[in-house]
Amino acid sequence: MRNVYIFNPGPGVLPEPVLESTSKAVLNFAGTGMSIMEVSHRSKQFDALLVETVDLLKKVMEIPDNYKILFLQGGASLQFAMIPMNLLAAGGVADYIDTGYWASRAIKEAKKIGKVNIAASTKDFNYTRIPAPDEIKLTKDAVYCHITSNNTIYGTQWQTFPNTGKVPLVADMSSDIISRKVDVGKFGIIYAGAQKNMGPAGVTTVIIREDLVDKAPENTPTLLTYKPHVENNSCYNTCPVMAIFVVHEVLKWVVDMGGVAAIEKTNDKKAALIYSILDKSTFYKGTVEKGSRSKMNIPFRLPTEDLENEFLSQAGKKGFIGLKGHRSVGGIRASMYNALPLEAAQKLADFMVEFEKSKA
Ligand code: PMP
Repeated sequence: MRNVYIFNPGPGVLPEPVLESTSKAVLNFAGTGMSIMEVSHRSKQFDALLVETVDLLKKVMEIPDNYKILFLQGGASLQFAMIPMNLLAAGGVADYIDTGYWASRAIKEAKKIGKVNIAASTKDFNYTRIPAPDEIKLTKDAVYCHITSNNTIYGTQWQTFPNTGKVPLVADMSSDIISRKVDVGKFGIIYAGAQKNMGPAGVTTVIIREDLVDKAPENTPTLLTYKPHVENNSCYNTCPVMAIFVVHEVLKWVVDMGGVAAIEKTNDKKAALIYSILDKSTFYKGTVEKGSRSKMNIPFRLPTEDLENEFLSQAGKKGFIGLKGHRSVGGIRASMYNALPLEAAQKLADFMVEFEKSKA
């Protein structure tokens, strides 16, 4: 049992049973006598695991049959480039909705490849909210529309996804994938670095609708083209074997917990514990508009920076890890990914109340 509560923004907390089964596989994977770090990505044992991982993800996210699932390297950041290289390089305009730091990075990459229209931005509001539907100016025949479903740094999350009609909706779900039920059929591509809700750093999940797989121009470098990855079931080259193993274990854990619907309920409870304090208190101040609040990352401020530092120092002594806000915004941020137990959120809520009282 751990004696710390991990509120890290990413890499994030992993379920304890996953750490246990991974530690066993580090010594002996599937009875092979080899470590998961030593086994071939083309061995029958690993191949079986890879097939099962895809099936588990399909089951957990209820992914329709006309989607392909990839486990790639390069992080979500490589997808910022790969998506326009595959879909936009041949021409047309892509819509991007700018909701913060990571969305801006995606935009920066896309602009290097093709034409980008910023369909909406909440930059002028310091990214403290998601744009309202009437603020979003979509291009009629855009090649795709890109959003960031959860903004890890600012703590905002799309509650209702924009309706882009026939234009494929592409979503960076790095910080909220499998944390809530999502209708995958509404998306063209969903991608996520695994290191928050799905596994360790080093593997990125890409869920791509079949008709979008083969759109890259001929001169696109092979490894940056979706098609060879799809044709080779993520093993065009050596895939991130160990990281995929951990994703497999996390997905099994999700199933054991009752699936995404059950996990979502717990996430709702965890978030409500902290937001109810922010709503009652004049000491703590949430930084996000209510209608845009994230269930994954909850940023808040205290009356002064000195008090914030004291809060972090006392929290650290009590075993709360990772509560410091992102360096670009400061303050406090509680990241509460799937594997953070309800008990940890309760302990943090208790500590917040106690700390406020001690300063009254
Ligand atoms: N998108 C979002 C929403 C993120 O939170 C992050 C990382 N924190 C990234 C993209 C970048 O991911 P990576 O480091 O895997 O490239």
